[in-house]
Amino acid sequence: MRPELPGRQPAVVQQQSPPVVEDLVLFLADISGYTSFMKWNVETLVHSQAVITILLETILDRLPAGSEVSKLEGDAVFFYVRKRDPGPPPREEALATGRALASLWETFNRKVVELSRSRYCECDACRGIENLRVKFIVHAGKAAIHPVRHFVELAGLDVIVVHRLLKNSVGTREYALVTDGAAADVEFPPEWASCTSREECEGIGSVAARVYTPPGAAGGAAEVDSRLGYDRHPLATKVWHKARWTWRVFTAELLLRCGFSRRPAYRNVPPAEATAAVDPVLAVVMLVAAPITLPVLLVQNTLTVLQEHRDWARSASRGSSAQP
Ligand SMILES: [Zn+2]
Repeated sequence: MRPELPGRQPAVVQQQSPPVVEDLVLFLADISGYTSFMKWNVETLVHSQAVITILLETILDRLPAGSEVSKLEGDAVFFYVRKRDPGPPPREEALATGRALASLWETFNRKVVELSRSRYCECDACRGIENLRVKFIVHAGKAAIHPVRHFVELAGLDVIVVHRLLKNSVGTREYALVTDGAAADVEFPPEWASCTSREECEGIGSVAARVYTPPGAAGGAAEVDSRLGYDRHPLATKVWHKARWTWRVFTAELLLRCGFSRRPAYRNVPPAEATAAVDPVLAVVMLVAAPITLPVLLVQNTLTVLQEHRDWARSASRGSSAQP
């Protein structure tokens, strides 16, 4: 099941049914990276929300096979896989889940680089895109499954454990923390380094786990950017990314100013009350001026892409001619 993203109304209201207790593997995919040092205003708020919404969509599109989404929790996706029996699954299944999460991590980083390199403007939120990262918490256990309207509510001690583990002793931003309870359910590719850890879970006690670190996780934004090779994309792809992103942010801002879309609550950005975005006068001005400002913005942003691509092509050809 795929839930509605924040700001959209549920399309279907499901019948409520009594909860059923099942054996599940529980997953949290959590986005972090915007810092408290950012200057927050209506502009950065709107741009950051557009970024996080797209990154949440990216995660939802790449979940491991058999995943069902419980709900979106701010900047995190809470999802689960039903186990056929309480015991460990065949090893191929665990490897497939691990490979799927590794692929999700890679796709997420590609999207971060794409959004960062085709950014809409130079505000704090747009310049901060390159610092956004995803981490996973994985735990297995029993939970009561209770469909409530358009999402699935999970309840039980193991659901509390997976959420409490978001606060942990891991000092890096990109990792998968897999509890010993889920050790047989997920096995990451060998290039993901791993070590054991013991986490103190508030009100529950000590939880043994394994921390997997993706290859190249220690690198900064520039390292990720160069590893994924965004510069080598064809010019047409770069122009398309820039145009699509410009359109998306422009319309998101317009809808928010008009009061047509709700502001979702993300942990990565300040509370919605922090800034008053709905401004009828400005909305009317933006609407009236849109047929002029949007094409101008598109042309301006396309010219920026052309300039950047030409600079890169020149430096790349200089680099290759300097090679012996
Ligand atoms: Zn911006």
